[in-house]
Amino acid sequence: SPVLPLAAAVLFSTLLGACGDRWDPDIEITGPTMGTYYAVKVVRPPAGLGAEALRPGIDGVLGEVNREISTYDPDSELSRLNRDPSTDWIPVSPNLHGVLAEGLRISALTGGVFDITVGPLVNLWGFGPEVTADAIPRTEAIQSALERVGYRKIALRANPPALRKERGDIYIDLSALGEGYGADRLAAYLDFQGLTDYMVAVAGTIRARGRNAKGQPWGIAVEAPRAGERTVQRVIPLSDGAVSTSGDYRNFFEQAGRRYSHHIDPRTGESVANRVGSATVVMPSGSGSAMTADGLATALVVMGEEQGPKLAESSGIAAYFIVRAGEALRELTSPAFARLWVP
Ligand code: ADP
Ligand code: MG
Repeated sequence: SPVLPLAAAVLFSTLLGACGDRWDPDIEITGPTMGTYYAVKVVRPPAGLGAEALRPGIDGVLGEVNREISTYDPDSELSRLNRDPSTDWIPVSPNLHGVLAEGLRISALTGGVFDITVGPLVNLWGFGPEVTADAIPRTEAIQSALERVGYRKIALRANPPALRKERGDIYIDLSALGEGYGADRLAAYLDFQGLTDYMVAVAGTIRARGRNAKGQPWGIAVEAPRAGERTVQRVIPLSDGAVSTSGDYRNFFEQAGRRYSHHIDPRTGESVANRVGSATVVMPSGSGSAMTADGLATALVVMGEEQGPKLAESSGIAAYFIVRAGEALRELTSPAFARLWVP
C-alpha cells in the first residue's frame, strides 16, 4: 500500500554483490516511499549507467505516483477527487484512470469484497491518513460509513477519462494497489533506461526482469506471517513478472486479545478476522502487472481461507496462501501457482 509504515511482507533472498562478478557494476538503490520503502537492484547495466544517474529518475517517478494516487498527500489528484462533492463527471488523468479501472475490475471480480470505495471504513478503523488512537469504532459510526461504500456508486469512463460519484461524499482508497502501481511505473522507467536485469520492490510488491547476478531467476522470499518475526517461509523464483504479498501481521492493532487488521470487509464494515496470515499472488509477465498482483493479494486476504482459494482457482490466479491453524501454519496453493514451475 502506498502508505503503510510497516507494510513489508517480502524480503530478498538475493543479495546482489555478495558473490557478484567483479566486472559486474551492480546497482542497489533504496529509499522511503508511500510510508514504507522501495528497493531497486540492477545487474549488467549498460556502460556508464550507475546509481547516481538512476536515483533522481526513480525518486521522480515515485513522487509522481504519490501525487496521483496517495490519500496521504492532501494535494494529490486522488485527494482532490475525494474532496470534490460534485456528482457530475469529474475529469481524471489517464494514469489515475488506469489505477481506478483496475481497482474497479478487481472490485467486480470479488463481488465487492475488495472495494476501492472502502476508504471511509479504513479511516474509521484508524488505518488511513488521519492519526487516531487504536480503538474499535462504534456501531453507528460503522453504519453511517457503510452508506458511503460500494463500488457500484461510482462510474468510470475512458474517453475522455472521467469519474462520476453517485453521492458527493464517496471516498476512494487505492492503497491496496499503490505498491504495485509504483513498482510498475519504476519498471517502465528502468526499461526506458535500457536495463534488462533488475528487481524492483515497493514494500511487499516486486517486479522483476531478467536474471540476478548469478544468472539465475530472482529469488523472492515470502515471510512466515508472524508479527515481530522475519523467517522465510518459501522462496519464489521469478525471472519476468510480479509477486505481491498481503498480510495481516504487520499493520494491525490489538485490543482485548484480538487482532484488528488493516483489511476491512466492506460487507460488514468490520476489520477482517480470518485465518489467512498472508496471500501471495504471482503474475508472470504477459499475464498482468504488479498492480494486479497487489490488488489481488489484498482481495484474497479479505476473502479468507475458503473463498480466497476458490476465487484463485476459478479465475486462474497463481496464489499461495499461508493459513493459521492454531500455532501451526498451513500452506495452500492454487492450481495456477502449482503449474508455474512445472515444465
Ligand atoms: P499490505 O501490503 O500492507 O498488506 P495491502 O496491499 O494489502 O497492504 O493493502 C492494504 C490497504 O488496502 C489497507 O490499508 C486499506 O487502505 C486498503 N483496504 C483495506 N481493506 C480493503 C478492501 N476490502 N478492499 C480494498 N482495499 C482495502
Ligand atoms: Mg495489495
